[in-house]
Amino acid sequence: MLPILAPRFKRTVVVSYRLPYKSVVKNGQKSSVLNSGGLVSAMAALSEKMVPSDGSEIYKNIVWVGKSDEKFEDTPVDKPGFFSGLFKKYILNIDGTPLSAETNVPASNTKFQMVPIVIDGVTNEKYYGGFCNNCIWPLFHYFPSLVVHDESYFESYITANTLFAEKLKSIIRPGDFIWIHDYQLFLLPALIRKSFPAANIGFFLHIPFPAFEVFRILPRRWREALLTGMLGSDVIGFHTYDYCQYFLRTVSRLLGNEITMNTVTVDDRVARVDAYPIGIDYEKYNNAAINSKPVEVEKQKIRETLQGKKLIFSVDRLDYTKGLLQRLEAFEYFLETYSDWNEKIVFNMVVIPSRDTITQYQSMKREIEAAVGRINGRFSTMAWRPIIYQYKSLTFDELVALYDISLVGLITPIRDGMNLEAKEYIACQVTEKGVLILSEMAGAAAELSEAILINPTDKREVAEAINKALLMPLRNRNILLARMQKRI
Ligand code: UDP
Repeated sequence: MLPILAPRFKRTVVVSYRLPYKSVVKNGQKSSVLNSGGLVSAMAALSEKMVPSDGSEIYKNIVWVGKSDEKFEDTPVDKPGFFSGLFKKYILNIDGTPLSAETNVPASNTKFQMVPIVIDGVTNEKYYGGFCNNCIWPLFHYFPSLVVHDESYFESYITANTLFAEKLKSIIRPGDFIWIHDYQLFLLPALIRKSFPAANIGFFLHIPFPAFEVFRILPRRWREALLTGMLGSDVIGFHTYDYCQYFLRTVSRLLGNEITMNTVTVDDRVARVDAYPIGIDYEKYNNAAINSKPVEVEKQKIRETLQGKKLIFSVDRLDYTKGLLQRLEAFEYFLETYSDWNEKIVFNMVVIPSRDTITQYQSMKREIEAAVGRINGRFSTMAWRPIIYQYKSLTFDELVALYDISLVGLITPIRDGMNLEAKEYIACQVTEKGVLILSEMAGAAAELSEAILINPTDKREVAEAINKALLMPLRNRNILLARMQKRI
C-alpha cells in the first residue's frame, strides 16, 4: 500500500498501537529491542528500503506514532531528524543484537521520528487487554466463544482512539499520508477525518476480516462505530480478496452505503477497498540462507543434532489461533499411523513467548507442554526423541538456518490474517528444498497454492500431508518451490 501511495505525499505518518521498539534490561544493560510480529517485521524491512535510488528526499520523512513502553520525552515533530542519529540503534535483530554491518541502515540516510502516546494503565488494560485482545482478536479469528462483551472495554477503546486523534492533531500537516494500522485503531480514520476533511488516510488490517455472520455478533453500537471509523479512510487495505469481500458485504448489510465494485460511497467521497497482501524482504532471507557465515554455523549445529534424521519445523507466537495443540495431536497421529518414520524424523516446535502474563495463555502453554511430554513419553527410545520443543525467541540466523535445513515446514494456524513465516520459509529453501504444509485458513494460502494445503483441525489430513511431504521427490519439490519463490 505504501509503495503505491507514498510517492505522491511529502511525509508518511505511520500510526500503530505500539511504537516498534521496547526497552529491555539484559545483564544489567538497557537496550532497545525490535518487537516480534508480522507488522514490525514488515515495517522494518520497508524502512530499510525507504531511500529511493534517485536520491530524492521523498521517503526521508517518516513519523511513527504509537504507545511507548518507555517514557520517551515527547519529541516535537518540527525537530526533524531528532531520532535519526539513533536510528541504527533501533534497528536490531529479532533477538535484540544489532544487525550485521552489511544490512545496517546508514543513519544519515534515514529520518525516522517516534512520537509516543501515553495511555494510563487502567484505560490501557480495558482498551488493549480488554476490547482488543478479548473481543476483537477472538471474534475476527472465529473464536466467538472466547469473546468478552464488556461495555467498559468499548468505552476505553473510544478513549484510547481519541487520545491518538488528539495527538495527531498537533502532527498532521498538509501533504501527509497517514497510514493507520490494525484493529486497535478502527475508530481513528473517522476521528481524523472530522478534524481534517481533506486528509489522505490509509487503513490496513493485519488480521482477518470475518464473514458478516461473525461480525454481526458485536452489539449494534460497537459494530456500527467500528465500520464508520474505518470508512473515514480513503483506502482500506486487507491481506486477501476474501477479506475485502467480507468487509464490503458487512458494510452493505449493516450500514447500507452504496457500493460499486470495490468502492464505498461515504457522504461526498468514496473509500476504496483493496487487497494488499503483506510481503517479506525476500532477498534478505534468501541471501542469508545462501551465503551468510553465521547462518552456516547454525546449520552445522543443527546437522550435528539431527545425525541424518529429517527435520520437520514449526515456529509461531504462543496463541490459540496458531493451532499448536491441534498440530501436536496431528503429529501424534502421524507417529501412530506412519510408524515407519519413527527414529527417522524429528519435529522441532518453537513457540515464541507472547502474552504469557494472561492466565488463558499460561494454561494453553501448560497444555502444550503436557502434550509434548505425553507424545515424547509415548514414542521416545533410548536413541530418539520425536519432538524438540523450545519456548523462546530465535535469532535471525537460527531462524533462517532452521527454515533452510527442515525438509518440512509445518505451518498450521486455525486462523491467521496472513502468516509471514510461510513466506519466509519458502524464501529460505536453499539446502533441503523443503515442502511447506500450510493451513488453508491462513491468508498466505491465497498466494501459496503450491504448498500442501490442509485443514488444521483434521489430524488425518495433516498426518497424510507430512508423509506425502517426506516422500516427495526432489524434482517435484524444486518445481513447486520455484513457482512460489518467484511469486513471493
Ligand atoms: N519472528 C520473530 N522472532 C522469532 C521468530 C520469528 O520475530 O523468534 C518473526 C518471524 O520472522 C515473522 C514474525 O515474527 O516475521 C511473525 O509474523 P507472522 O505473520 O507469521 O505471525 P504473527 O506473529 O504476526 O501472528
